[in-house]
Parts: sequence; C-alpha cells; structure tokens
Amino acid sequence: MSSLRLAAPLLLPLLSATGALATEPAPPEDAARAHMVATQIAARGIVDPRVLDAMRKVERHLFVPEPVRAAAYGDHPLPIGHDQTISQPYIVALMTELARVKPGARVLEIGTGSGYQAAVLSLLAREVYSVEIVAPLAAEADERLARLGYRNVTVRSGDGYRGWPEHAPFDAILVTAAPPEIPQPLLDQLAMGGRLVAPVGPEGRVQDLVVVERTGEGLRRWTVAPVRFVPMTGEVRKKGR
Ligand code: SAH
Repeated sequence: MSSLRLAAPLLLPLLSATGALATEPAPPEDAARAHMVATQIAARGIVDPRVLDAMRKVERHLFVPEPVRAAAYGDHPLPIGHDQTISQPYIVALMTELARVKPGARVLEIGTGSGYQAAVLSLLAREVYSVEIVAPLAAEADERLARLGYRNVTVRSGDGYRGWPEHAPFDAILVTAAPPEIPQPLLDQLAMGGRLVAPVGPEGRVQDLVVVERTGEGLRRWTVAPVRFVPMTGEVRKKGR
C-alpha cells in the first residue's frame, strides 16, 4: 500500500513533462469534451444519461467565435458578439436536465444566441423552436445549425416575449436571457406536465434559476440556484415593473 502512495507523486512530474513537449499533438476536441462532462457536469451532480450524452456530442467549439475557440471547453461563459454570451457548460446541462426533455417533446427556447443550447436540446427532443432578438445572431445560428446537420431546430428572429403560439403548446420552455418576471404568454404556452426553466431577476444582478411545472392543480414553481444571465430585452422591459 505504501509503495502505491509513493508512486503517484513520482508519476506526476513525468506526465506533465510529457504533456509540455512541443511535438505532442493538442488533445482532440472530443477528449476535451469528455473531460468537460466528467469534471464540470457529472462531478456537480448532473445524472441524466441522455443529458450527459448530448453534452458529450455537441461540438461546443464550433459554436463560439474563432478567437475564443481554444477556451470553448472551459468552465465559464464566453462572448459570442453583440454583447451576448454562450452560457457556462454546467448551466446548459443543468437547465437541460431540469427541463426533463423526453423523446418526442416539442421544445421552445428564448434566446438562441450561438445555437449551442438549441443543438443540445435537439438531440433530446423531436422539435426545437428557438427565438433570438438580435437578427444577425439569429441568422448566424440558423446557418450554423443547418451546416452542422441539426435539422429539427427552427430559428426565428424576433422578440421571444410572446413565445411561438403557432407551435404551442411546448413540453419544455428554456429561457436563456433573464426577464424581471416570467412573461405570461410563455406560461400560457406550457403543455400539461411541461416545464419552463428561466433565470428570473433584475438586470445586472444575480438572478434565480426558476422552474415552473404545469400540473393538474395548476402551476408549481420553485427556485433552484443563483445564476447570472444577460438581460431579456424587448417588450418585457416596457411593462413598467
Ligand atoms: N442559449 C444561447 C445563449 C443565449 S445568451 C446559446 O446557447 O448560445 C441570451 C440570448 O438571448 C442573447 O443572444 C440575446 O440576444 C437573447 N435575447 C435577449 N432578449 C431576448 C428576447 N426578448 N427574445 C429573444 N431573444 C432574446
């Protein structure tokens, strides 16, 4: 036993020396992704195997701008232009798990951004509808998702405040920009048994990650964790709250 304990410290310098060799190829992205899932997501308590599998599959580095690509699998959000961000991987996984997306589900996302969260959802659901208020981001995400083969995602440029009534009701609704309060039209578009997951709270401060479930007795609502998202803009800001 004591020889085992000694072996570890002796091995460490050897491993790091090898890793530092200039000729060593950079670790492939799928290894970085597997490491991300193990250390940031599974290690923090995400257990749904379908969610973990989707997080292992979606090539996050292809959803971020070239200059920050090397940081794509880091434990943090990243800028995607237009003052917007792609969420930290763990938060994407947490919101996805909380939404309990079943095969065959129809999902609505408010805040397409890069399209990354939509891609993760598309591996779990039958149809994903995503609305993005910044038109160039919507166009870019739409093009990217099509190019990468995510055929069950439909992106629309516009204000997500009123949801997407033509495709309602939704089995899951994910809001990825923070409103001061959940827009009523989104609650109205939640199917029986469906779940809405949203960061709720004032701009520029810590928000609550909130889950709302439509049950036979009405809406059940609870708070999961403090989070920090970019604010939801558009009509939700004109409500005089
Ligand atoms: N889910 C995204 C990250 C979203 S960041 C991803 O995986 O990359 C939040 C996004 O919400 C931003 O792109 C922002 O422009 C958008 N947004 C803010 N207010 C909105 C609104 N009212 N309707 C639709 N999108 C909105």
